[in-house]
Amino acid sequence: MSDYQLIIATGNAHKVEEFEQLLSGINFEICSAKIYGGMPDVDEDGDSFVANAQIKAEALRAIAPQGAWVMADDSGLEVDALDGAPGVYSARYAGLDATDETNVAKLLEALLDVPEEQRTARFRCVLCVIDEFGLVSHYDGTCEGIIAKRPKGDSGFGYDPVFIPVGHNQTFGQLGDVVKGQLSHRAKAAGWLKSTLAEI
Ligand code: IMP
Repeated sequence: MSDYQLIIATGNAHKVEEFEQLLSGINFEICSAKIYGGMPDVDEDGDSFVANAQIKAEALRAIAPQGAWVMADDSGLEVDALDGAPGVYSARYAGLDATDETNVAKLLEALLDVPEEQRTARFRCVLCVIDEFGLVSHYDGTCEGIIAKRPKGDSGFGYDPVFIPVGHNQTFGQLGDVVKGQLSHRAKAAGWLKSTLAEI
């Protein structure tokens, strides 16, 4: 039995499960916004991952029971040769009806003439947590790598087929979930959060 409840700002069961695993062994019951009627609709119109994560966390806090903690995440890909794009627009880089495939195609086209040494990039994840008293904190996790010339592998989602993490010569799409789970931006941000929550 946990003393605290941490509600995650997503209706995506896969994300809740992932955070349950990443944050296991602490005095918090992890649950989904779904049990409180689902995540309220919000415009993720912030200009940073921090701003967007906080918009979602605050919207969830407004419907959460008293005494609960809430958490929201925001993540994406930053490519140095594109001045940090697609960044907060990662999900809709190729337009409002973008798919993973059209986003990846647009990215590869934008980097067509960019040589390997300038194809540096990182996945970034920011977690925004609001505690039972309304105190806001942020946890940042990054995973450095380079963008491949063409997609390889079909594991994961989003830009995984073109992201080669530092220290490897295959994409996340080829490396699979276990390796990604050890290196990912989400795992790193959750690691920071876990070390804080473990003290409570
Ligand atoms: P979200 O904030 O987790 O919904 O992520 C926004 C977008 O960033 C996703 O739709 C993906 O395009 C991209 N993204 C975030 N994390 C990953 C990842 O781990 N692999 C591949 N793409 C990602």
